[in-house]
Amino acid sequence: MRNTQIFLRDVNVMDKIIASAELSKNDVVLEIGSGDGRLTKHIAKKAAKVYAVEIDLNLLDASKVALKDANNVEFINADALEIAFPKDVTRIVSNLPYTISSPVTTKIVYFLNDKPSSFAILMYQREFGERMLSIPGIRDYSMLSVFCQYTCKIEKITNVNKGCFRPMPSVDSVVIKLTPKHIDIDEGFLDFCRAIFQHKKKNLYSAVLDSREKMAIHAKSELKERLESLDDSITKEKVFLFETDELLNIYNEMIRLGICQK
Ligand code: SAM
Repeated sequence: MRNTQIFLRDVNVMDKIIASAELSKNDVVLEIGSGDGRLTKHIAKKAAKVYAVEIDLNLLDASKVALKDANNVEFINADALEIAFPKDVTRIVSNLPYTISSPVTTKIVYFLNDKPSSFAILMYQREFGERMLSIPGIRDYSMLSVFCQYTCKIEKITNVNKGCFRPMPSVDSVVIKLTPKHIDIDEGFLDFCRAIFQHKKKNLYSAVLDSREKMAIHAKSELKERLESLDDSITKEKVFLFETDELLNIYNEMIRLGICQK
């Protein structure tokens, strides 16, 4: 496993990650995929404590050696998807393992949503980050964009060229800041969006009809009748053109019409 890992070696990018994390000696940081500890050591200098989670025991052992003088790092040999994140964490700072970008982002968002004044600084593969940031009408606008923008404020910190890593990967990266909105996340809304985004290039009317198995009303004729009571300007619009706020309004209309249930 060790030979397949890709490490950040560019000091300027590391500095940007650390600066954007705005760490103080009150912060407790979770680093997911701490590798050989090259980013951990910069975090440990600025924060009160770091939880360094690494799945690869050889790498974790190497990081323990590299950080032998730091007394504020707790090393955890685990799969980040399998453990409960420590409750006292105030920041998540990580050059993420890209293979788990999607599930780990979901986990991070739900975790930080309940924590006041928290945020995450995360490195992603460029394409994944672009999808998180994407806006309506752009090809990349997807359920990932809706989920991230509904639950968080998302900012691009910097693009990172593949030459900043060793061994050099085939893809570029991007550092993203995720700040949770601390909302009451409505799972019904997310389920509705997940269903219609399966048909994101269709208009809303067709997308809802094609997702009827996932709606509260399954009968096509009844669904058509209720959808037809909505304004054409909504039902004839393509799904991928709606902003998150507009999708929320549409979902509330769907509840009013009995097409969705809370
Ligand atoms: N932190 C180092 C750096 O900045 O160069 C390494 C980052 S490397 C892109 C991602 C790290 O995540 C690797 O060390 C890998 O072993 C680890 N990793 C992969 N999957 C993981 C998982 N499910 N849980 C925890 N760590 C994981």
